[in-house]
Amino acid sequence: MITMHEFDTIEKIYTSLLNIGGRLPERVYIRLSKLNGNPDFVKFAIESMVKGTPLEKIKLEFIEVKPKIRCPTCGYEGEIEAPAHARFIRCPLCNDTVDIIDGKEIEILVRE
Ligand SMILES: [Zn+2]
Repeated sequence: MITMHEFDTIEKIYTSLLNIGGRLPERVYIRLSKLNGNPDFVKFAIESMVKGTPLEKIKLEFIEVKPKIRCPTCGYEGEIEAPAHARFIRCPLCNDTVDIIDGKEIEILVRE
């Protein structure tokens, strides 16, 4: 089953690829975490969508990062294992709600 997060992520990547103007780049790096959906599923979906189109020639490099959090209450900072459907992430030490400092937004980097 596809989650809303995955749908957004897939749409964002695909739109970015479609919006590349001029000559197609050799590589596109896609940095994402489990907060953006299941990285394997996202990769599979994008590769299926570009198949048979000119975008197929672009080498897509998916880089999975672990989400990083900072707890404003106890100061804990670190990487976490996030379930694909995580909405609210809590501090492993004090169980308070945390700030996500990395891995929240997907990053798409085009390399000529
Ligand atoms: Zn804490």
